Amino acid sequence: MTLRGYIAAVLAGLALFTPVAAEANTTIIAPPESGSPYQAWIEAAMVPTPELSVEIVESDRNDPAWPCEGTDYPDPVGCVVPSERRIFGEPRAINRSFVFHELGHIFDSAVLTDWDRERFSALARIPMPWWYEPSRWHQAPAEYFAESYALCAIVGPRIYFPRMTRPDDSWIKPRQHYQICTLIQRASERHRPYGAASRAKG
Ligand SMILES: [Zn+2]
Repeated sequence: MTLRGYIAAVLAGLALFTPVAAEANTTIIAPPESGSPYQAWIEAAMVPTPELSVEIVESDRNDPAWPCEGTDYPDPVGCVVPSERRIFGEPRAINRSFVFHELGHIFDSAVLTDWDRERFSALARIPMPWWYEPSRWHQAPAEYFAESYALCAIVGPRIYFPRMTRPDDSWIKPRQHYQICTLIQRASERHRPYGAASRAKG
């Protein structure tokens, strides 16, 4: 076994003792008739989720309260209002990737510090303002962060092939992905330094 293989084996062993559920801090509020197991997705997340209640509103553009217009993205099937901790989406469009992407925006707003954002931009090699110019908002570091958060939550920090193609067709190398997932983990730990004790305050 190479040293690298040994380290990977040790880390894998440690991972067995890490209760994943302890990192699932988000309580989902969703319609009782919803067909999507949102809370189960949260419980299975492989990075910490923000310590908040998040409402998922299954709706569409015919709803007067639909807030998802006004971006440059044509006909959005959903969006998030981070300050309200609410995710809006058309039921046909809501899947695990969608929910964790939007939850990534909430994690950004609730947990990340400016230092974390600078560090992320450096790791992702996007030396641009966090929210880029409106016509290219989808290339903003904030969007890339939300995508990265979703990948870390669903795939976990380790990928075993030379690179992973992201939903926007850009790609990421295993080391870069691991560092980004670690940054998310550490940002969460710094935000909740007393772990379960801080949770008990409600
Ligand atoms: Zn987004």
